[in-house]
Amino acid sequence: MNDKHPKRPGTRVIHGGQRPEPITGAIMPPIFTAATYVQESPGQHKGFEYTRSHNPTRYALERMVATLEGSPVTEEQDPSCGGFAFASGLAATATLLELVDHGSRVVAMDDLYGGTRRLMSQVRARTQGLDLCYADLSDNTVCTEVLTSETRMVWVETPTNPLMKLADLAAIASIAKAANPDVLVVCDNTFATPILQRPLEHGFDIVMHSSTKYLNGHSDVVGGVVVAKDAALTERLRFLQNAIGSVMGPMDAYMTLRGIKTLDVRMERHNRNAQLVAEFLEGHPQVERVVYPGLASHPQHELARRQMDGFGGMVTFFIRGGLDAARTMLESLEVFQLAESLGAVESLVNHPAIMTHASVPPETRAALGISDSLIRLSVGIEDAQDQIDDLERAFTAVGG
Ligand SMILES: *Cc1c(COP(=O)(O)O)cnc(C)c1O
Repeated sequence: MNDKHPKRPGTRVIHGGQRPEPITGAIMPPIFTAATYVQESPGQHKGFEYTRSHNPTRYALERMVATLEGSPVTEEQDPSCGGFAFASGLAATATLLELVDHGSRVVAMDDLYGGTRRLMSQVRARTQGLDLCYADLSDNTVCTEVLTSETRMVWVETPTNPLMKLADLAAIASIAKAANPDVLVVCDNTFATPILQRPLEHGFDIVMHSSTKYLNGHSDVVGGVVVAKDAALTERLRFLQNAIGSVMGPMDAYMTLRGIKTLDVRMERHNRNAQLVAEFLEGHPQVERVVYPGLASHPQHELARRQMDGFGGMVTFFIRGGLDAARTMLESLEVFQLAESLGAVESLVNHPAIMTHASVPPETRAALGISDSLIRLSVGIEDAQDQIDDLERAFTAVGG
């Protein structure tokens, strides 16, 4: 695309960082599967030596995500404009944690993706001596207390999984930087996507995604991406991506790039369907409470309106009747498939206490409010009425 004139997100998801392939004019990049590239003379090559370090198909995806997140890094500064793709979301996270030294203090949101918390607490606390602090960063008073001059990295998810808590991105970045100008502030933007929220605009240093979820959107690729806010951080990440080597393969990069092209239209439908489903649940007698940022009852609805361009496809609710009711509900749904993961075209339902968050210790789950009656919906892009009918049938099966 001619990038001279800035484009809106709905156009960037199609053309961001893309150009016709130079030899044939192919509109989509070829899937370059070669592991290595032939050199004319030792050290003389076309900028590509070995696929772990350089791959044109992966670059195309990386430039796309960097453009969507609004990184100012140019192609002259870095071949992928500050975007980096990894074998999974957790591979991306594992690489990012290498930005801080042994023994560093890392402050993370308390309601965190279970796998991220497991990597930090059960692996890196031991091997990297990380001094971890989990805190409710949705509360600015808590942020002021825990984000001190000792903090080397801040890890935020917003909205969180599964409790849909929001963090005020601008406030967190400014509080953390005031305490320590060298702190690295990272946002896991998996739930919101760059269509709804761009953390770099709020002063964040790094954005990461499990591209397995909304970015790819079709439940057929596991991957992770990272975007850096400037050239200096990009250089450090380029070194780490290559040195650690948990890169995304070219086939996965192609599939993910293909998936991203419909991200804007998918998010529009996810937003609309989730709002309808959340409103239906809120009015249902068998539901104790619904948590969705698009509902006026969400405690941070105002922040959601200010910070996000839409409220996303994730809806959490508490069913009356505890574990037994939850189990019957989950066994009765047809449109909502009982599976881990989220963010794809098909609707999924998850029971965090038994499924995705089983690795979180029961005391921690209880303290956070991840009870046995909590059900998490990833509202897909099917017809909203079929989604609502499905939920109604399942409530009838539960009895009430
Ligand atoms: C799934 C997920 C991850 C982990 O990504 P993988 O691709 O499964 O490794 C990290 N953060 C969030 C919010 C997720 O939903």
